[in-house]
Amino acid sequence: MQFAQRRHQIDSSGIRRIFDLAANLKDPCNLSIGLPDYDVPDVVKEAAIDAILHGKNRYTLTAGIPALRQKIKAMYDARGQAAVAQDVIVTSGTSGALFLVLLALLDPGDEVMMADPFFVMYKHLSNFIGAVPRMVDTYPDFRLTRERLEAAWTPRCKMLILNSPNNPTGRLYTREELEEAGRFADEKGLVVLSDEIYEHLVYEDGGCVSGAAFSDPARTVIVSGLSKSVAMTGWRLGWCAGPKDLIKAMSEIQQYSFVCAPAPAQEAALAAGMDFDMAEIRQLYARRRDLIYRGLTELGYDVERPGGAFYIFPKAPGGDGDAFVERAIENNLLIVPGSVFSERRSHFRISFAASERQLERGLEILSGLLAKTPA
Ligand code: PMP
Repeated sequence: MQFAQRRHQIDSSGIRRIFDLAANLKDPCNLSIGLPDYDVPDVVKEAAIDAILHGKNRYTLTAGIPALRQKIKAMYDARGQAAVAQDVIVTSGTSGALFLVLLALLDPGDEVMMADPFFVMYKHLSNFIGAVPRMVDTYPDFRLTRERLEAAWTPRCKMLILNSPNNPTGRLYTREELEEAGRFADEKGLVVLSDEIYEHLVYEDGGCVSGAAFSDPARTVIVSGLSKSVAMTGWRLGWCAGPKDLIKAMSEIQQYSFVCAPAPAQEAALAAGMDFDMAEIRQLYARRRDLIYRGLTELGYDVERPGGAFYIFPKAPGGDGDAFVERAIENNLLIVPGSVFSERRSHFRISFAASERQLERGLEILSGLLAKTPA
């Protein structure tokens, strides 16, 4: 088959290699997975089943069920973000929202700033549509600073993607960092795209400060969804809140692409998903975060304490994350090399969306690997 040029802009070889290496493992300790380790809560399942049984199985309006859009908008209004959330579109997962925002706003050659390490889709989607990712190197502490933003900026930059809590580092940006980033974006006329998919998985007092709170609302967009909170990863339910003209453009693109987000998932989000109380789950993950962070530091790993999400991003002993992950897999531990999320290959990602037993097992293997690493 003769493929379009654009097809070659998506490079999933890094993660594929891990899957290939992992294929023959029996009962591996799997700390690689980026999704919750619990199932969709019963109330949300029941709402979806009810919707299906009551014939809510057809196309919805392109931008989503009006009552759900209103509910999402009301949530942002209540948080004091009415100026940003002028309008809302419901999408096929947060990925669907990201895709539509980038398609609506970026021309080939436009540049997109993102913190490195980054969520994989930002880089590959940008490349896919002919835009150019500009990496804001945030090593070793994964903080956003004015200097780091300046170092990555060019006059062709049109957008800054913020993701807090962050995949893959677990970093929760402080109010000061986000203020600085917002000010920088306004000075340079950048669109701020704040990916808040982990907004409910925050383990610090004070909760999550929105990355959309400090830039001109006319150029600020929030994407989020229910994949990581109520574990609806397979149901594909996300959204985008932003300026009216952008939401209109995204709806038109959605009309001729995804059409709409799955109807039963929208109904379930409306009836139960949006209101699900995350307090218990947050506590559970906070304990796991403490377990893995303490365990790694006691072993002597060089690692930052995550404030949110369910990832931790230690430095690989010996400095080569790819080689280290290969050895981990040989020892039955599945983790992801940092090079999948970064231009650097010095780190690796552990997901702590796993039972405490699995995390302890993982720490044991990591302890053994450390002992075998040449200084
Ligand atoms: N943004 C980030 C930062 C993510 O980690 C993910 C999922 N791994 C997504 C967006 C996409 O989520 P969804 O399943 O809702 O498309």
